[in-house]
This record gives sequence, C-alpha cells and structure tokens, in this order.
Amino acid sequence: MALSDLYSLVRQPDLLQTSVDMDMSSFNSSVMSIGAGLRRGGVMIGHWVYPPVCAGCGVLVGEHGGVCGTCWSNLRQIERPCCDVMGTPFSHDMGGALVSAEAIADPPPFRRARAAVLYDDVARSIVHRLKYKDRTDLATIMARWMVRAGDELIAESECVVSVPLHRRRFMARRYNQSAELARILARRSALPYLPGALGRRKSTRPQVGLTAKARVENMRGAFSVPQTAQSDIIGRSVLLVDDVYTTGATVKAASHTLLKAGAGSVSVLTFARVSPDFG
Ligand SMILES: [Zn+2]
Repeated sequence: MALSDLYSLVRQPDLLQTSVDMDMSSFNSSVMSIGAGLRRGGVMIGHWVYPPVCAGCGVLVGEHGGVCGTCWSNLRQIERPCCDVMGTPFSHDMGGALVSAEAIADPPPFRRARAAVLYDDVARSIVHRLKYKDRTDLATIMARWMVRAGDELIAESECVVSVPLHRRRFMARRYNQSAELARILARRSALPYLPGALGRRKSTRPQVGLTAKARVENMRGAFSVPQTAQSDIIGRSVLLVDDVYTTGATVKAASHTLLKAGAGSVSVLTFARVSPDFG
C-alpha cells in the first residue's frame, strides 16, 4: 500500500470499511482480517494525527467527534412539535395544527423533510469543517444526530440517495460531504445506499447569496437519474440526504428528478436547516 493510500485511510477510516461493505462477497476472510487490522491502525494513527477537538469551535475535548459544553448548549436541536411536512419547529402553540402555512401555500415535491439542528453559528461551523476542512470524521456524529431526528422518515424509506456534487467540484474537494453523511446514515439505519442513483449534469453556481427565485432557476435541470440506476429506484421510497436545507431549491430539484424517474416517494433528511422563524 502506497503511503498516500495509507494517509487517505487515516484521514477517512470509513473509506476502507466502505470498500469492505461494497465488495464483501469477493473478499476472502484473510483479506478482511487484514482490512480490519488496518482500519484499527488507521483509527489509532488518526487519533495521533488529530487530537480530539470540538466539532463546533475547535477547542480540545475528551473524545473524537464530540462538541464542547458551550457549543452543545448553543446547538439548537429541532424537537417536536414541528410541521409534519417541512419539519420546521413551531415557534408557539399552533393549537393542534400539524402542517405549517409554508407547506400549505407551497407544497413541496417531497413527502416530508427533517433536520437534526437549526442552521445557526455552531451548526454552520460544523458543516464548514466537514465541507471545506477535510473533517470527514465529523460525518459520524452528524449522521448519528440525523438518524435520531429522521427516525420516522427512515422507517418509511427503502433506500438512501445523496445529493451529488458536479464532477468538477468533486475533483477539487475529493469527497462529497452529503455522500459521507448518507453512507454512514444508511449503514446505521440498515438501508441500502445508492451512490450512483442521482447524477449532476450541470455545474451550478454556488447558491450562497442568490435569492430564492434565482436558486430555483440555478438548479433547473441540474440532476439526472442514469439509465443504469432507474431500476433501483422505480416504485421505491427514497430517503434523500443533504448537509443543509436552506430554501429547499436543491432538494426540491433533486426530488423532482427522482420522482420523474419513477421513485415512489422522496423524503429529505439534512443535518441542519434554515428556519424562517428561527433562522
Ligand atoms: Zn466548541
């Protein structure tokens, strides 16, 4: 194994586990035991390379993948009651209402959406570290929170699909943060992960700074379902995973594409979401 390969495993120990998961049938037991040993080694070396720091602010903490007390108390987990469709928390007693005005005024193509936390400063910092600072190890704890927030969606889903990056952006970043979350989430939920079910055929402008209308226009025609993947999603309940729900333009466009290709339904699970009431 080349030194660069080992370094890649140290940075992303899940990579090796994924290759074992995907090619389980073709691996003989001796190769698997070497793989398991390397994985353990990777984690150990990983601890040496990265001391455990808070996922939110970077101060030293007791264990990997955790957050410090201050960040924990500032994180705003989304609790029930929330809109049954959009997953937005109700800011006050809605008198038994189950669906928000937003869901009634502009029904989304997806069945339901849920997120683990509100997209505030701490959540933004965690997502930034995952996305731009090579902290793919954070995906483990983020996916754990998402499994808890999305338990109802997971129970009614048959497969997991992630929002893809365009090839050029993937080559620059070397990993897709949504795929990192989706892969771990699928494994924890015992659902099949379909990494090739959704493709990105258009290199869209970054959504940051665009109006809601411009975001929708920017995402038009951005996704496609490759012919080879259609049989995997036809008639199935798909759980679509992304890192952040902002205006919903991205996951709505992806949901439209999946439904057009024959998916039975789409539910959306993100780590964080911007809330109109709490943003
Ligand atoms: Zn912190």
